[in-house]
Amino acid sequence: PAQRHLFSEAAEVGAVRGALLAWYDSCKRDLPWRALAANEPDVDRRAYAVWVSEIMLQQTQVATVIDYYNRWMQKWPTLQALAAASLEEVNELWAGLGYYSRGKRLQEAARKVVSELAGRMPRTAEELQKLLPGVGRYTAGAIASISYGQATGVVDGNVIRVLCRLRCIGADSSSPAVLARLWDMANVLVDRSRPGDFNQALMELGATVCMPKAPLCEECPVKQHCHARRRRLLGSCPTVPDVEDCGKQLAWGCPCCSSAYGPTVTFALVFAGVGDCPLCPPATEPWDSSLGVTNFPRKAAKKQPRVARTATCVLEHRGRRGAPRFLIVQRPSSGLLAGLWEFPSLPLALGLQEEKQREALADHLRAWTGRPVAAGGLQYVGEVIHIFSHIHQTYVVYSLPVDEDVTLDPALSPWRWVTEEEFHASAVSTAMKKV
Ligand code: SF4
Repeated sequence: PAQRHLFSEAAEVGAVRGALLAWYDSCKRDLPWRALAANEPDVDRRAYAVWVSEIMLQQTQVATVIDYYNRWMQKWPTLQALAAASLEEVNELWAGLGYYSRGKRLQEAARKVVSELAGRMPRTAEELQKLLPGVGRYTAGAIASISYGQATGVVDGNVIRVLCRLRCIGADSSSPAVLARLWDMANVLVDRSRPGDFNQALMELGATVCMPKAPLCEECPVKQHCHARRRRLLGSCPTVPDVEDCGKQLAWGCPCCSSAYGPTVTFALVFAGVGDCPLCPPATEPWDSSLGVTNFPRKAAKKQPRVARTATCVLEHRGRRGAPRFLIVQRPSSGLLAGLWEFPSLPLALGLQEEKQREALADHLRAWTGRPVAAGGLQYVGEVIHIFSHIHQTYVVYSLPVDEDVTLDPALSPWRWVTEEEFHASAVSTAMKKV
């Protein structure tokens, strides 16, 4: 790729490292896993603490993770403690955090470290990725750089955004070719003496300054090195009316931009674009001046989520004394929401009329309980929408009061009666809590 997309000058690499680390030292957020990574003297415990945080932070906001992380580390402060826990306990603590297979895989990997590696965490990014199930290149790099000080870069969503903006990378940032370049760049940039802090600084910058929609460029510690920002400023320069022609125009100079941000030739090189450059935006999607730096990164259009409908029935038993109880059943041990508990549910064909939905659910409950269930006895409560990453799910909710305990065939699914309080403490998904 062209030089304009790389960090090829040692002086600039040093300046970016210095500026980012100084900013991180004064502005970093106080987070529980950072305290453990800094203060835990036992290297295996330290790596475990970082590993748990990295798995929880995948797909989940920091603010949400903090409470889960503290409870997790209190309950299972070591790999050994986690390895000895039951999957049910793991699911219960994970409930509400989403992407439930993460907790299960974390525990499986902890068991592997305890049983096959004598409780010793692999000591390099390469080994972590090779030996631990569920640990990919990013997580391995984060654990190794933060816990062991290995000088290895990391690339996550925040880093992708920052690097694409710093170097005007406008090709599809989810493509393997672009990702490979970003990994190369992260490995070049990472500070050799403080790799863990540098990686966290880059991610922190993406999370708190170089945000997806409204980046705070004027507060950015690396703004002097940011080509997207220069491009935005150039776009508003009154002497350069058509920025797409900037390469040609700036060859003979742009007085206001060049005096403010460096030699004109830099702009010409950075923004002229090269027809077949693998990292430039495609010719069909030129710079949109209304977007500014958020022109970068670019991604291929996302696939539309699949639409699904599920009928679900809240079976409620009101005893003479005590709180009402509700019947919940356990989902299969693989697939979406594996092993979690839910109200008895039935996936519905799309376009089914309400009457048919009700009949299908009544049939299902009849087969499950071995008792007559009249479709007319199901009370329609309403619809609950929950968006999973790839599914737009609508739950059509019914209720059915029952006079005495209903029993289900345990061969079909484990089941139990719970009070409302027990329901919330059980391993149930956020979607079911909405129901
Ligand atoms: Fe991001 Fe703006 Fe900083 Fe560039 S200057 S890295 S776009 S915050």
